[in-house]
Amino acid sequence: MSDAAIPSYLEIIDFIAAGTTPQAVVDYHPSAEAQQRVAELIAREKEGGLSPEEKRNWITSWIWNISSGWPKRAPGRSRPVARDVDHTVRRLVIERARRRFEYCLAHEDSAGFPHQIDHIISRKHGGPSEIENLAYSCVLCNRYKGTDNASIDRSGRTIRFFDPRRDSWDGHFKLQGPVIQPVTAVGEVTARLLRLNAAERVMERRLMQALGRYRKG
Ligand SMILES: [Zn+2]
Repeated sequence: MSDAAIPSYLEIIDFIAAGTTPQAVVDYHPSAEAQQRVAELIAREKEGGLSPEEKRNWITSWIWNISSGWPKRAPGRSRPVARDVDHTVRRLVIERARRRFEYCLAHEDSAGFPHQIDHIISRKHGGPSEIENLAYSCVLCNRYKGTDNASIDRSGRTIRFFDPRRDSWDGHFKLQGPVIQPVTAVGEVTARLLRLNAAERVMERRLMQALGRYRKG
């Protein structure tokens, strides 16, 4: 997402957060810039020019809905990629996380795309499909994490990622408005590699906070 797109998205977020009803969506008269942004997205969608990531973006989904009247899509259902995790274990992982993603803390009901079971230590590195090596993750965190479990900090040290099983989230991150601010080296490499503060993700979080669906501190 380009920086130029951000003000029009913020306008749309503020509109949604102000209390949206179907009629309000129909009646919504955004600024010329916001209309332009929506028109561009719709044109690109018709040409098949939107990336899968853009299509999964929650705000982009909202724009479709605004443009066409009212939401048609239900929240994404689980479509796990970890096929060797059986149904019972998967349910336990999701219930343990209270249906929140364990890296970015978004609630599954706020995700416009399927959520996933993450192997904290990937299978590639010998991590087992056992409940103590599994975490509940959104698609974005899971994809950016990939098979990694560590990165290099600015001084060249190898630093492991935040581990939802052994670490407390609040021990490594704090919320500053919608931004997930790392407070440790572990938090720093995790936030950076998982792109927890990518512009569109911060805006989604801001919207969720405004709607009371994401914690504020
Ligand atoms: Zn996430």
